[in-house]
Amino acid sequence: MSSIGTEKTRLVFWGGQAFAMMPFGLYILISGIFSVGLHYYSMKGVVIVGGGPAGLAAAIYAGRSERKTLLLEKGSYGGRINDTYEIRNYPGTIADSGQHLMEKFREHAGSYPTVELKRTTATGISKEDNLFVVSTKRRGDFKARSVILDLGTRPRELGIPGEKEFVGHGVAYCATCDAEFFKGKEIYVLGAGDQAVEEADYLTGFASKVTIIVLHEKGHLDCNEVSAEHAYRNPKIDFCWSSTVQEIKGKDHVESLVLKNVETGQVREVSAAGLFFFVGMVPQTEMVREMAACDKSGYIGK
Ligand SMILES: Cc1cc2nc3c(=O)[nH]c(=O)nc-3n(C[C@H](O)[C@H](O)[C@H](O)COP(=O)(O)OP(=O)(O)OC[C@H]3O[C@@H](n4cnc5c(N)ncnc54)[C@H](O)[C@@H]3O)c2cc1C
Repeated sequence: MSSIGTEKTRLVFWGGQAFAMMPFGLYILISGIFSVGLHYYSMKGVVIVGGGPAGLAAAIYAGRSERKTLLLEKGSYGGRINDTYEIRNYPGTIADSGQHLMEKFREHAGSYPTVELKRTTATGISKEDNLFVVSTKRRGDFKARSVILDLGTRPRELGIPGEKEFVGHGVAYCATCDAEFFKGKEIYVLGAGDQAVEEADYLTGFASKVTIIVLHEKGHLDCNEVSAEHAYRNPKIDFCWSSTVQEIKGKDHVESLVLKNVETGQVREVSAAGLFFFVGMVPQTEMVREMAACDKSGYIGK
């Protein structure tokens, strides 16, 4: 750490940052001058927002055509597929984990000298003349001729009382990530589509019993037939038909669920160590909804 200045006005340099020990107004003035002075745009040919499989694939193609490319990723390179313990439908790869396959995608994208990968959140996109300006949380702003959006999706939340409070304490959205916390326990899954039924099957490798809560009447699942048959044959899977979750209860952790039968209106409380939500995905397009036409679910394009 080093410092310069007088008794009242002092700039302290610490870890590459400058902190001013001075009257507050003066501090604001100086930090304003600093930030205006330091504001610059880095120019790119293409900025790719999102480093999931789609973004990394786009970076590979941009790299092959020698475009000056920047890919921005706010989480882990590879996106949602990182949560998959086994992939069996990627041609040329009989079976691989999502993380390993995505590590190969990332390595491939990064192998091109014109491709740069940065970990930060893109916070906004605007247009200046014929160029796009992509603002980020920690890495400044970038100008580019083209922007490719690979924003992906996130699990839908329903806002059920208790849902938010118990996230990470019995409420979960990813079986691969959280299954091991429910070893030998009785848990519930909400949803009846492919993801819900397949993940319920996976969860039976850990939990003692998995009950799938289905909004539809008995025998009606939204998933593919193969997964449905598989689930019906699994002795650790049970179904709770025509029902939904009204409330999630517990102290530090989920202890019970209040279930409502949507046909009869009957409400009952069941004990449960956890609840997995698989009720669809939400596109992460908030940032571009003013710029690009989105449908009513938020997906780009009408
Ligand atoms: C548990 C599970 C199992 C699956 N199993 C399979 C399977 O076996 N086979 C299969 O084909 N598919 C599978 N899928 C589906 C697959 O994961 C998705 O189809 C795929 O990940 C979609 O890729 P994407 O690049 O479009 O989006 P995503 O994977 O969602 O990637 C989008 C990326 O963009 C980033 N991002 C978003 N907004 C910003 C921002 N503002 N700034 C910076 N970065 C941002 C996100 O952090 C994310 O990394 C599975 C999914 C899950 C959850």
